[in-house]
Amino acid sequence: MAIFRAVPYSAEFRCFAGCPGSFPVTRPIYRCPKCDGLLEVVHDIEALRDRSGPSWMRLFDERYRVNAWPYGSGVWGKREWVMPQMPDDGIVSMYEGGTNLFWADRYGKQLGLADLWVKLCGNSHSGSFKDLGMTVLVSVVNQAIREGLKVKAIACASTGDTSASLAAYGAAAGLPVVVLLPRGKISTAQLVQPLAHGALVLGLDTDFDGCMEIVQRLAAEGTVYLANSMNPLRLEGQKTVGLEIVQQFDWQVPDWIILPSGNLGNASALHAGFRMMRELGIISRFPRLVVAQAENANPLYRAWNAGKRTVDAIQAKPTLATAIQIGNPVSAPRAVAALEAMNGIVEQASEEELCEAAARADRTGMYTCPHTAVGLAVLEKLVARGVIQREHKVVCVSTAAGLKFTEFKVRYHERGIEGVSSQKANPPVYLPADFGKVVDAIAKRFD
Ligand SMILES: *Cc1c(COP(=O)(O)O)cnc(C)c1O
Ligand SMILES: [Zn+2]
Repeated sequence: MAIFRAVPYSAEFRCFAGCPGSFPVTRPIYRCPKCDGLLEVVHDIEALRDRSGPSWMRLFDERYRVNAWPYGSGVWGKREWVMPQMPDDGIVSMYEGGTNLFWADRYGKQLGLADLWVKLCGNSHSGSFKDLGMTVLVSVVNQAIREGLKVKAIACASTGDTSASLAAYGAAAGLPVVVLLPRGKISTAQLVQPLAHGALVLGLDTDFDGCMEIVQRLAAEGTVYLANSMNPLRLEGQKTVGLEIVQQFDWQVPDWIILPSGNLGNASALHAGFRMMRELGIISRFPRLVVAQAENANPLYRAWNAGKRTVDAIQAKPTLATAIQIGNPVSAPRAVAALEAMNGIVEQASEEELCEAAARADRTGMYTCPHTAVGLAVLEKLVARGVIQREHKVVCVSTAAGLKFTEFKVRYHERGIEGVSSQKANPPVYLPADFGKVVDAIAKRFD
């Protein structure tokens, strides 16, 4: 960045596969010019060693949810590890992160677990974890534009949450946004969010993978700046989820982290966060990673469990977990590295399994989106199989707010999902305004 913040730390783009060369993070570049592979953000780890692990922990604890801009953000409170050169006045933040690590005591007990937690990343400005990455990406673009970069708009392909987040952060910064959505394959709330923020919303007759292909071409031709997680700037913000989970356990590492995944950016980000904590003396071991996929959109499940370390694209089938209906995951190579480093497992959940897991969890006070439900269904399977055990400390990452997926819950409780028995359906009871009938209804349920 040209307008440097006076810090001894720095980060730059490099090829994920290890080709030589590096690029400033403000450069609009999304692939390695040598091998056409993915890029990553690489930090000057030696420079960050100027503080000890305990000293970083103290600093991060001091900043946790404070009022002083921008440190109350769970992302910018860790800015030296995220995007160190970003000046304060370039930052576009809406106090992302700092979300509840919900103690799922009652649900855990039902499964026979004593130490189950759900990280509620959906309790965020636009209702999903995507805000964690988007604050970093939009801030860097904002800064790059201040330094002279010319772009017509920031753009993304989306299964609904990336577009909602990008539209919100773009609007907050006054930057134009274009979103490409698979028509009819996202929730009403997700469609309305970018409309409300004034983005150009293009509903295409294809799926996410089809939208992704087009937006990559737009970005390659320089028409737009690419905001998908192929752009590693997003992952720098998302990696704070791992940091925050460990921080919320007073810097203890859980045994398992379960993550519902589609494009596999978040799995890669989680690994990056844990790697950095280990390199900088905060932790000495990794949790085991469970990547949870919908059975109808399971390219990584198929590859990993067949012993393959490259992921073949598939045609994803419709799933209620629409945000992870992805057949050609862009971050597959990064996610394979994460699984290898974190002794990982890839498991899948059917539509019936995810629906019933969501309903069971909701009955214990959660309000589960269908993707989080994929994670919980996979958890239930791994407990039943004895892989995850009673005394293990387990974290399920909840990726979005259940309130964005009202149609999903309405259909479940109306017993309207084909192939799903809706065992916990709880439809409303409609009555005339008659005292006696109300008394009868209460007696019928609880006597
Ligand atoms: C984006 C998203 C995911 C998947 O994250 P990836 O990084 O694409 O694997 C899961 N759940 C929700 C709700 C999402 O919006
Ligand atoms: Zn390369």
